[in-house]
Amino acid sequence: MTHIYNFSAGPAVLPKEVLTRAAAEMLDWHGSGMSVMEMSHRGPEFISIYKAAERDLRELLAVPDNYKILFMQGGGLSQNALIPLNLVGHKPQPATIDFIHTGSWSGKSIKEAGKYASVNIAASGKTGVPPLAEWKLTSDAAYLHMCTNETIDGVEFAFDNGVPAGLAGLPDEVLLVADMSSHILSRPIDVAKFGLIFAGAQKNIGPAGVTIVIVREDLLGKALPVCPSAFDFKLVADNESMYNTPPTYGIYIAGLVFQWLKQQGGVAAMEQRAIAKAELLYAALDADDFYQTRVEKPYRSRMNVPFYLKDESKNEAFLAGAKARGLLQLKGHKSVGGMRASIYNAMPIEGVQALVDYLNEFAGR
Ligand code: PMP
Repeated sequence: MTHIYNFSAGPAVLPKEVLTRAAAEMLDWHGSGMSVMEMSHRGPEFISIYKAAERDLRELLAVPDNYKILFMQGGGLSQNALIPLNLVGHKPQPATIDFIHTGSWSGKSIKEAGKYASVNIAASGKTGVPPLAEWKLTSDAAYLHMCTNETIDGVEFAFDNGVPAGLAGLPDEVLLVADMSSHILSRPIDVAKFGLIFAGAQKNIGPAGVTIVIVREDLLGKALPVCPSAFDFKLVADNESMYNTPPTYGIYIAGLVFQWLKQQGGVAAMEQRAIAKAELLYAALDADDFYQTRVEKPYRSRMNVPFYLKDESKNEAFLAGAKARGLLQLKGHKSVGGMRASIYNAMPIEGVQALVDYLNEFAGR
């Protein structure tokens, strides 16, 4: 049978080992006689699953003790409302939020934030991140929001020692908020340089339905009065993500992914693999002008690789041929067209090599 490689942008491929283990534990988790799906979130079995997941994520990302890790519901988009609702209260109202606009997801964040605050687009770039010197930050902004990897557009911030390049020099009072949905756990990050990091799970973490929020403790407790209680970060933190019923099964799978990541060597190892996979793929795309990419080289995402056939009339034939070879979900996002290969942590280099072989074959090389 043809080997299947799934290049979906999310929900995305999960490690085989994780799925195999989840299948083995499906009907009876560790002799409890229950599936994880059937357990009370307040029972000792699930609490142990939760604590291990929290501990492993904290270890993988070296999250400092003065940060809370929240396992929430609602997905990445809900955070576009929940973050303003929780953070703008630190400033006199109406507060201003600064944004770096580098693609579709930061664009959506900007639109939603406008319901809760004044919005200042400090810088924007379609094919890369504008240099820091060009950013027009508001003095006294509630925070500065950026999407450090734009899943649709394939623009990823360059990083320096775990911080977006150049930002280590920003004044300490600039509070950084980052949407890391599509590259979290693919590279080391210096959590202490951020006020808040969030990520939907369905790319590098686990199934859709879990949203991770990593937030500095001193930012809790200032939610606007209209903030729904179940989404007040302080209430969620004080109740260890169990103010209401958390997405239990998703947290369990995320926990298995964290264990897998630790066995693989953690985020440092993931970064080395991501570099190798991305170099292999971009080299095939750059070999001649049969394929085209639009992102400036320093900002090319290691996780999401959008590309176009120079002759777009061949798109359907390309996708059909890919599918026949077991290379799935390569169609680009409908808003930008073309193709996109998402090569998250769980995509083995063999999958990227299979795609590269096909790219070469289709281009007649
Ligand atoms: N931010 C980024 C960077 C994303 O890639 C996505 C989803 N693809 C979202 C936010 C929105 O996530 P959700 O669909 O879970 O709300």
